[in-house]
Amino acid sequence: MTDHSELFIDGTWVAPQGTETINAYSASTEERIGSFPEASPADIDAAVAAARRALTSPEWAEITQAERAALMNRFADVLEAGKDERARLVSTQNGMPISIASFAEGDGVVALLRYYASLAESVELEEIRPRVDGTGTTVVQRTPIGVVGAIAPWNYPAVLAMFKLAPILASGSTVVFKPSPETTLDSFTMAQAALEAGIPPGVINVVPGGPETGKHLVAHPGVDKVAFTGSTRAGRQIGRVCGELLKPVTLELGGKSAGIILEDAPVAETVTGLATASLLNTGQTCYMSTRILAPKSRYDEFVEAITAMASSLPVGDPLDPNTFIGPLVSKAQKERVLGYIEQGKAEGATLTTGGGEPKDIDRGWYVEPTVFSNVDNSSAIAREEIFGPVLSVIPYTDEAEAIALANDSEYGLGGTVWTADQDRGLQVARRVATGSFGVNSYNLDWGAPFGGVKSSGLGRELGPEGLAAYFSLKSIFLGS
Ligand code: NAD
Repeated sequence: MTDHSELFIDGTWVAPQGTETINAYSASTEERIGSFPEASPADIDAAVAAARRALTSPEWAEITQAERAALMNRFADVLEAGKDERARLVSTQNGMPISIASFAEGDGVVALLRYYASLAESVELEEIRPRVDGTGTTVVQRTPIGVVGAIAPWNYPAVLAMFKLAPILASGSTVVFKPSPETTLDSFTMAQAALEAGIPPGVINVVPGGPETGKHLVAHPGVDKVAFTGSTRAGRQIGRVCGELLKPVTLELGGKSAGIILEDAPVAETVTGLATASLLNTGQTCYMSTRILAPKSRYDEFVEAITAMASSLPVGDPLDPNTFIGPLVSKAQKERVLGYIEQGKAEGATLTTGGGEPKDIDRGWYVEPTVFSNVDNSSAIAREEIFGPVLSVIPYTDEAEAIALANDSEYGLGGTVWTADQDRGLQVARRVATGSFGVNSYNLDWGAPFGGVKSSGLGRELGPEGLAAYFSLKSIFLGS
């Protein structure tokens, strides 16, 4: 049991100014595992003020980029030492299978921070460009964007926080971070690691709470930019507020990506790959290929193989390294997913496996891996993001129809193609309207931009593009 009574603001643990407390629960036992204070508006004000002071403090604003990188690497060292504890804490809170938590929430957090530490050293803060009219030079200056209000969801809480924190640090900006209420305990360990690593006071502040806390942070006049990962619904609200305030915003939102199986795809490899590409973290991953498009010529074969794969995945304790399907994050999420399964049945799709709660598990927010075949792309289970272990297999006639179906979606975040011919896969990848795509697998690359088109978001994280999002640009025209 970890009951926290303080908040991390201005480089130290302080008593909250509000009185509300939020409980943390285990997704697999449904038991309370700890608590933490909810940040009140006064706490958020204090955090933003600290972040503003840090922005111009000598120990943050006046250090070299090499010194900044060294600080980031020290932070990474401390986070590396705590990686197993952090992975277990994430697994316990949100039900993420520990094998995934170890690699994403443990190692991933560290690797990402080290990658941005290297970019911090190499980024050109002042670039001298010859003028196009040939009359002299212009200095293009990159300055930190300022105080960032960063908001993360619960599904990959630590690594998605680091998607923002790492480039924010590399740019010399500062951050007020709001974790999800379901996964706040791990953010406190990250704050403690920042303290131990000597990240200067006010550079990182953590304000726990729900949507109301997030809204206060987004609209705060002391926040210069908002970086949000979460649902499309919340993203639209945040986009509206930032639009009115003309505040820069990055939105990483939901998805309903297509997994296109081409006629030549080898069945065993494809289905093994799809387990990870469509059901990673019990389907609670934004870029999952949950709309599986299978050729009519081999439809029955693929439905059978996908059904066998889904029904054979080990369901159980997220802390067991063999578990592939853990519980969903909350009772509300479980009910939402079960509601979609009922809707799929009512819409006339064929349930080939799963469809309910596992019979042999008596506690925790579990839903069986579920597959529907004969799904129409216009049905709710094919159009809406379910965010659980539910796959829809949709038949198609030819490649042109497969691409049209893949593009017939409100979303455009991820997607995959499965084929014996990588070049053909690349041709298909080029024609799908999406922010990222995998050929015969889907593996994020820290060095390449990640984000969505259409209702999946605005802007990009990761890669040098993810760092560029935290700089303001100024052009200084040098007269003679
Ligand atoms: P959510 O939108 O309900 O909440 C996300 C975060 O935003 C939480 O911290 C929440 O407290 C806060 N929040 C909610 N409404 C807000 C508002 N109006 N103003 C400010 N803050 C607000 O999403 P969730 O259920 O926690 O996460 C799941 C969603 O996140 C899925 O839709 C998933 O696809 C998406 N997601 C996207 C990516 C990506 O990179 N594109 C990555 C992971 C998850």
